[in-house]
Amino acid sequence: MKRAGKAAVYEAPNTPFIIKEYPLRPVKVDEVLVRVSMSTICRSDIHSYEGKRPNPHPGILGHEIIGTIVELGKNISKDMRGDPINAGDRITWSEYFYHGECYYREIHDMPQKCQGVRKYGHDLVTDDPHFLGGFAEYCYILPGTWILKLPDELSDEEATPINCGVATMACVTEAAEISLGDAVVVQGLGLLGLYGCAMAKARGARLVIGVDAVSSRLDVAKKSGADHVFDISRMKPQELVTAVRKVCKPDGSDAVIEVCGVADVIPQGLEMLRVGGRYVLAGLVSPNANVTIDANMLVKKWIRMRGIHNYHPRHLIQALDFVCTNRRRFPFKEIVDSKFSLSELGVAFKRASERSVLRAAIVP
Ligand SMILES: [Zn+2]
Repeated sequence: MKRAGKAAVYEAPNTPFIIKEYPLRPVKVDEVLVRVSMSTICRSDIHSYEGKRPNPHPGILGHEIIGTIVELGKNISKDMRGDPINAGDRITWSEYFYHGECYYREIHDMPQKCQGVRKYGHDLVTDDPHFLGGFAEYCYILPGTWILKLPDELSDEEATPINCGVATMACVTEAAEISLGDAVVVQGLGLLGLYGCAMAKARGARLVIGVDAVSSRLDVAKKSGADHVFDISRMKPQELVTAVRKVCKPDGSDAVIEVCGVADVIPQGLEMLRVGGRYVLAGLVSPNANVTIDANMLVKKWIRMRGIHNYHPRHLIQALDFVCTNRRRFPFKEIVDSKFSLSELGVAFKRASERSVLRAAIVP
């Protein structure tokens, strides 16, 4: 094994990434070392890079990662499903990890919200073991991470977004209680929204409505399960609400999912819902997402509103199985639509930030 590896280091918000080399050390008993096969740029990486939310630096960003096992600690022999794992296997793993006692995990079954939970792509690169983010040649998987072996049939493009975007949407569509015959609105058709459309359809929705301002995304949404798409760059908010309510007979949608990261869409989402409708928010991951709503609507319409952040380990398994089962029905391969090398990470971030690509992949 090579005893050093390269990483694209994020030194401070909005500064160029710098390729640096760090030493690799042998794994401890509960760790795994992987050679990164692919990492994709998630919207939250862009928020960190642009300084919209705090992230330690110098660091290695990237948490949507897959890789091949190089070295396995002696206490690890199986993945979270109980399947044996060995050096050379391609795996995905939870974007977060936590080791130790946890009130939220033990009492409320919310391991994703343990106080002190850590996420890949959120550590100082100067600290041991240096490699804890996706935009590097290697990544250490630390204790408290959920590991899942990937079947050979999945391409890297299909497999990489599973541990953040897809698993989050498994959690979101569960929280939205989407069931047979529902009409579902998805606000924002980035990777989360496209998987949201596909999952809503797979969960039995009769009608899926996708909303975005990027016209190329509307086309992918139609292939991903959306029955209607609306280009909000050409519509006033009230026109959009009227158009959505018109197709959601008799009195609006059963569920609305926000994955666009823009708080201003919330009043429109509330107006689209029928009495007793469900609203799940998942895109507003940065602080200060302030918005004014008429809370009377919540009361009079019996609306249930819920926020979702991270996911339960079961959603990681559901995400993988959903992609495997539905990869011929929906064009998941097309969603990761561009590839860059580690040294092109700056260009990749620029393209992803301006939304000229759907999901940029880094192949280190
Ligand atoms: Zn993410």
